[in-house]
Amino acid sequence: MANDSGQKVVLITGCSSGIGLRIAVTLARDEKKRYHVIATMRDLKKKDKLVEAAGDAYGKTLMLLPLDVCSDQSVKQCISSVKDRHIDILINNAGVGLLGPVESISIEEMKQVFETNFFGVVRMIKEVMPDMKKRRSGHIVVMSSVMGLQDLGVVFNDVYTASKFAMEGFCESMAVQLMKFNVRLSMIEPGPVHTEFETKMMENVAKMEYPGADPDTVRYFKDVYLPSSIDIFEAMGQTPEDIAKCIKKVIE
Ligand code: NDP
Repeated sequence: MANDSGQKVVLITGCSSGIGLRIAVTLARDEKKRYHVIATMRDLKKKDKLVEAAGDAYGKTLMLLPLDVCSDQSVKQCISSVKDRHIDILINNAGVGLLGPVESISIEEMKQVFETNFFGVVRMIKEVMPDMKKRRSGHIVVMSSVMGLQDLGVVFNDVYTASKFAMEGFCESMAVQLMKFNVRLSMIEPGPVHTEFETKMMENVAKMEYPGADPDTVRYFKDVYLPSSIDIFEAMGQTPEDIAKCIKKVIE
């Protein structure tokens, strides 16, 4: 399926920075102009970096829409403003991290991670699925993480890991049901990627408090885990471009 110009309509969540921004630019600047990209972000005031990176693709193969994946109303409004609600490829990229001992994270903070990383994806799938099933065509891509694929036992990353595991379970089950309607569902599970995610995590660590947490675990986290994870990021971290290229291959 494609739009009137023969392009596939791709909607991407969380395009204000990092991986989402790069996927949007890579697809919008596709050499064969195969994609009409709807890049979404919750605050359009953050659009400048994306617009600059898109260059002359902006306004041609790339357009912008506001979308907060945590809001039912925003999701419905966004999808209903797409022509005939036809989306060929949905890329669920928006996500947040949260590091810290469970003892010092409130249930409200934990729910916010699930609102974005789990229910944000569920909301989007629920909204695009009816049209994809009706047309017997479509591809849903979900940005999970290596943390959602296997239990790496990363200290103080319990809530983020759980949110990605929950999403993996949901999507595994959905994929089987969508197959009958010729709708594909793909999971992407990156390791470390150099984005603002890393910066936000480090800011989160700087403010972290450990009341009630086991002192040995805190020591391990500060003296072993953090320095080694910084080394791993330096040595093995991928770039948003690497992930965007991978996504391009997955949807081709
Ligand atoms: P960034 O922090 O750079 O990007 C996250 C994006 O998600 C931002 O655009 C942010 O928007 C958006 N976002 C957050 N909450 C919402 C919301 N409620 N509605 C809409 N958009 C929202 O991080 P990355 O690019 O690294 O992360 C992208 C995805 O990749 C995430 O799902 C993450 O879990 C996953 N990932 C990242 C890895 C890494 O090492 N970087 C490794 C494995 C997976 P805003 O600017 O408004 O906050």
